[in-house]
Order: sequence, then C-alpha cells, then structure tokens
Amino acid sequence: MRGLRGAALVLISALLAAEVSASPQLELMGVVWKKPTLRVLVKYGAPLDYIAAATRAFKLWKAAINYFTRLYGYEYLRKLHFEVYIEGFNSSPNGYDVIVEFLDEPSGSMELGEAMLIARGDYVIRAEIKLFLRDYTGVKLEPLDVLNVALHEVGHVLCLGHASRAHTANGPELMYHKYTPTNMVIMPSTLDIYGLALVFEWLTSNRPAPPVQRIAELPPNIPYRLTAYYYVQVISAVDSVRGGGWYLENDTALLSTADIVVRDDVRYVFKGWSGDVMAKVPNLSLEVTRNYTLVAQWVKQYKVQIVFTSADGLKLSPQPTLLMLDGKLVNESVLWLEPGEHVLEWVLWRGAKVRALTNLMVEGPGAVKVPLAIWRPLVRVTDILGLPVPFAEVEFAGPVNARIKLGLDAYGRAPELPEGVYEATVALGGLILSRTTITVQGDGVLTLRVVVNPYVLALALLLATLIALALRRGASQF
Ligand SMILES: [Zn+2]
Repeated sequence: MRGLRGAALVLISALLAAEVSASPQLELMGVVWKKPTLRVLVKYGAPLDYIAAATRAFKLWKAAINYFTRLYGYEYLRKLHFEVYIEGFNSSPNGYDVIVEFLDEPSGSMELGEAMLIARGDYVIRAEIKLFLRDYTGVKLEPLDVLNVALHEVGHVLCLGHASRAHTANGPELMYHKYTPTNMVIMPSTLDIYGLALVFEWLTSNRPAPPVQRIAELPPNIPYRLTAYYYVQVISAVDSVRGGGWYLENDTALLSTADIVVRDDVRYVFKGWSGDVMAKVPNLSLEVTRNYTLVAQWVKQYKVQIVFTSADGLKLSPQPTLLMLDGKLVNESVLWLEPGEHVLEWVLWRGAKVRALTNLMVEGPGAVKVPLAIWRPLVRVTDILGLPVPFAEVEFAGPVNARIKLGLDAYGRAPELPEGVYEATVALGGLILSRTTITVQGDGVLTLRVVVNPYVLALALLLATLIALALRRGASQF
C-alpha cells in the first residue's frame, strides 16, 4: 500500500465551466474502473431513511442502465453491478471499492456531497462519497435531497464529470454541478448513461481501457431526458383529472377525478377510463412500468325542463307528476339529459297515464315542449234525426272526469281529456237523455246522438230554455 499511495492520482470532482453548446455535453473524467462489479460500504452514522436513500442511489443507477439498454442498446452496460453493504448489518471484512459516509454537520460550501476517486494511472482503484445531512446553513436535508445528491456522487464514482445543461426534456440534469432541491427523484439522464457507455466501452472486449473521449454528446437517435421515467398521459375533455405526467419506474400513479362536473346548464358525468386501462371507478392507482395513455370518458348532459302541453300545444296545468322516461320512473320536473332522443313511454297526469305524442328531443339546455295525447274535442249533441240539442250538459267519466255545457248551437269545447274510453252522459235540464261509451282520440267533433222521444225532448228543451231565461233575467237585475 505504501508504493500505491505515492502513485495514486487523486481526482476531486470539480466544477465544469458550463459552456454554451448547441447540444448537451457531459464531461468524462478520462479514468475508469478495471472491474464491472463494485463493492460498496455504506457507513452507519445517519438515520435509517438516509442510509436507505444512499443504498437506493445505487439501485436506481442500475434501473437507469436497464431502462437505457432496453431502449438504445449498449447491453454491455448491464455487466455493471453494485454490491452494497451496510456497516453493522451485512458488512463483510473484505475490502470495498466505494465507501459512503454521512456527515451530520453543515456542508462547508454550497456543496451537499463530495466524491473522491483514487486512481492509479488511468484506472480508479477506490472511491469515497461524503454525504452531508445538513446544508451550509445547518438546515437538515430531506432524505429525498440526500438521495439526489447520492445519485449525483455515484455518477462521479462511475467516472462521469459534470453536464453542461441544468435541464433535460423531463426534469433536472443529475450531473449538473448545482443541485436545486426538488420533490422528484433526479434520475441519471440518457446523456449520463450514454457517457457511462463510453467510459465502460472496454466491457465489450473485457480488456480494460480508459475512454477515448473526454466529452460525451448524445447520438441524434437518443432523446435527452431522464431515464426510468414513464409518462402517464391523461386525455380528458373536462378539466377535472388529478394525476398524470412523469413517474419514476415502479412508482404508483394516482389518478382521480370528480364523478360529476357541473358548468351552468351543462354537466359532465364520468363514465370510466379507457385507453391502456379500462375501469369504471373515478380513482385509479397504477403501478408505472411503462408509458400509459388514459382517456377519461364523459357523458355530456343538459339541464332540461320539460313543458307538457295538450295535443294542440297549450301548456297543461297542473303539469304531470310522474314520467316513464327511457325505462325509468322520474318524478323531477328539471332533468339532466344527454343530447338526442329520449323515449317517453307515459306520464301521469291528474291520475291518468297518458302517452306522449312525440319522444323527447334534447338539443341543448332549456325548455322542451312535449305534446301529450290530451285532447280538447268539440262536443256536439244531436237527436235521432240529427238535429242539434242546445243547452245539453255532457258529463265525461273515464281517465279523468269533466262536465261540458253546450250552447244554443249544441256545440261545446271539452276541457283537456286524456286519450281513452269515456262514459258520456247527456242531460238536459237535469233529465238524463242518454249514456254512451265513446273514445276520445283527437280534437275533432265528437257527436253524441240521443235516442229520445221528440216530445220529451221538446219538453226538456222548453224547460232548459226557461231556466236559461230565468237565469239571464236574474243576472240582469244586478
Ligand atoms: Zn459534482
């Protein structure tokens, strides 16, 4: 070891003057390890979640390599391994290549971590990583920040220098010289792993050799982005979905949306997810192992007020109370309905089931008139010879009950009568002349013929006339 110390070249990661360059560049240290498996000792001396963060940094580099090689080749990088031991847990007495230490003190400068490589000639023989648990003001760092710093320092241990850019297409550049606290795991970029492929190119021949280049630039076919991140794309016509975006491999994406979104007279009802996942529930938990595209399915509905009219278009009062609409019983007067045609089987009006003359056509929010099979026929009473019987009274009993007084011309307009079969009773001056069964099914003239003795009729008519006259006289006295 004595001779070795003298020959060792100590490389301390230095700031790279970020040059303005058309394409992002990564500095390579020009040295390399002679072996593909590195034994790492994480020293005890920090709370467990910080130790876990440091350990995870090595796993994530491995995940980044796997991700990169799957997409772009350079399979020899998969030969790189880290055997990570934790002091006091599973450490072995044998020698280590990389030592990770924690310092529970404010970092001396703006740096939150340090990596030191000890090399002999072009080959690294040992490396040390120091991770500060506090920033230079003394504020305790979050485990996530320590993880991000550890990831950066592992990059140096793997003989990478600094990158020229602060940002990739989907997140910060890990090997940028400055760390800005963030709430995401900053994975190695494609540029970092490509740089690693240049550094460890000797793994293709198994004859160790230092890298030829000192600067890595991505080939045009490899986009500059973070590795091991997948994009969960959410497509929704309604702006109500939470979640989506970039997720670290094996992370859980939580997507949620409201069931119903109301925008004035229009509302959207969530029907489920389609695309790469089919589901009905609005909240979705997704383990991210690839890119996903999810489409939120919405049904648009309009706020509709149905105005029921008689067949001839007059608004009914009262309005029906119960509807059989699209096979469902409905008792609201204001409804949320999808655009298009809705089947109105029947409505309940004054206790009678009445059919609608048209289906319900919804084209937008607002009032929609629906005529019902409710008629106002012109009622006429004649005697057996077809002569009019003036002043007759007709009583209808059926789906609804109604009474009509005819005038001198023996005609009278019926009130609203739901379509159906009625028993019509014709009376004159209190004398019942006939009782017949008739069907009301239109607004036309409904002629009721009474079969009575003309003498009786004449008598009744006289009586009715006298009563009418008496009433008129009585009225004029006022
Ligand atoms: Zn650095």
